[in-house]
Amino acid sequence: MDLFRGTSTLPLSFTLLEFSVGYDTRTISRQLFPRILYNRLPDKSKVLERQRVVDIVEDKESARVVLADGTEHVGDLVVSADGVHSKVREIMWQNANKTIPHFITATEKR
Ligand SMILES: Cc1cc2nc3c(=O)[nH]c(=O)nc-3n(C[C@H](O)[C@H](O)[C@H](O)COP(=O)(O)OP(=O)(O)OC[C@H]3O[C@@H](n4cnc5c(N)ncnc54)[C@H](O)[C@@H]3O)c2cc1C
Repeated sequence: MDLFRGTSTLPLSFTLLEFSVGYDTRTISRQLFPRILYNRLPDKSKVLERQRVVDIVEDKESARVVLADGTEHVGDLVVSADGVHSKVREIMWQNANKTIPHFITATEKR
C-alpha cells in the first residue's frame, strides 16, 4: 500500500491542516482508496456494481430505490454519495417540490 505519512516532507499546508484540525494526514490515490475499502468488506454480496439509481419512491415507512435494470431495493433510509450531478439529489428536490410547491428554487439548484 502506497501511503505517505504527514511528515515534514509534505507541503506546509498539510502541516497547517494538522495544526488546525488536530488530525494527521495521509495521501492516497483516488483509485486505490475505494479498492482498499472494498477488499476489507466482509460481505461483498451487498455491493452492486455498474448500477444506476433512476428513481426513489418514498412512503411513511420506507424508501424504495429503483435501479436502471428494473430491480428495487427497500430500506429505512437512503444515503447517497453520487457526486456533483447527483440523481438522488434531483429526486429529493422533485419530491420536496411535490410536497411543498416551489420549495426548492432554481437558484438553490445552482
Ligand atoms: C479530472 C478531475 C480531477 C480532479 N482532481 C481533483 C484533485 O486533484 N483534488 C480534489 O480534491 N478534487 C479533485 N477533483 C474533484 C473530485 O473528483 C471530486 O470532488 C470528488 O470525486 C467528489 O467525490 P464524490 O464521492 O462526491 O463524487 P464522485 O467521485 O463523482 O462519485 C460519485 C459516484 O456516484 C456514482 N453515481 C453517479 N450517479 C449515479 C446513479 N444515478 N446511480 C448510482 N451511482 C451513481 C458514480 O458512478 C460515482 O462512482 C477532480 C475531478 C475531476 C473530474
